[in-house]
Amino acid sequence: MSGPFAHSDYVEMTVHFRCNLKCRHCMILDSMHWLTPADDDEFEALLAENRQHRKWTGLILTGAEVTLRKDLPELAVRAREAGFRNVRIQTHAMRLADMAYCEKLVAAGINEYFVSVTAGDAELHDYITEVPGSFQKTIAALHNLDQLPGVSLLTNTVVTRLSYQSLVATVELLKGLQNLRQMEFWNYWPMEEDGKPELLVSHFDVQPHLMQAIRLARQYGRHVEVKNFPHCLMGDLGDALRNDQPELRIDPRFWTEFNRNGFHQCEYREVCGSKQCLGLNTAYVKQYGWHADRLQPMPRSP
Ligand code: SF4
Repeated sequence: MSGPFAHSDYVEMTVHFRCNLKCRHCMILDSMHWLTPADDDEFEALLAENRQHRKWTGLILTGAEVTLRKDLPELAVRAREAGFRNVRIQTHAMRLADMAYCEKLVAAGINEYFVSVTAGDAELHDYITEVPGSFQKTIAALHNLDQLPGVSLLTNTVVTRLSYQSLVATVELLKGLQNLRQMEFWNYWPMEEDGKPELLVSHFDVQPHLMQAIRLARQYGRHVEVKNFPHCLMGDLGDALRNDQPELRIDPRFWTEFNRNGFHQCEYREVCGSKQCLGLNTAYVKQYGWHADRLQPMPRSP
């Protein structure tokens, strides 16, 4: 199902690699100290590219926690001047618990906020982020942003052994947000050949919670995107699986780490017709096996 934000309309640039949370599932926790963010020349080159070719309407500023950059509003102003109609930040949003800061970012042109909400309650969220009080700030930020005209909210919840039973509670927690247009559920990427046992969880344990969360989120009018879950286990909700992403401009050394996930492993990969499925990954197979008796190759289109 195509949603309100077409990935092909966006380009994503990593502009900062520092964070003041320590999320247990973080994909770049071990690499953010050596990954290099785009410098000003690279940022300017991207703006020039869009001025000339108008390839994208949206820019996503990401990396680790971009609100730690003091010049974030200036980056947004420059992006708007270069023709980006939408500027999004990927953030844990804690700094946006301050309404004055929200207003400053919105005035600078940041109109989309992709916010990490790791769980549906404070105790679990703060356990996952390892920072007491982080939940309260992130939720305050979402409610601040929800009051500002022209703002779109998106959320992401990473699905791990810690969070999977909290997915439905997370949808419920956010049900009052008027501007929440999209909820995403990203199944844990181990980023190594042996995933952390604290985080790895069987797809069959996750399945009922994830399906219920998708149904409920849709009931509340959210568009839903799921990443890295077997397509054949999603039944009539398979249209929520979208593994494609906007074009990402990142330190190329990132991809060496990312590919350690070992995606596309499945006994049925050669015969399966799913174009979205990433199959299983190395850490998952080591822990839970191939599930050859429970996965079902999908029909190929004629
Ligand atoms: S059979 Fe394998 S490749 Fe096909 S949808 Fe299921 S997990 Fe994905």
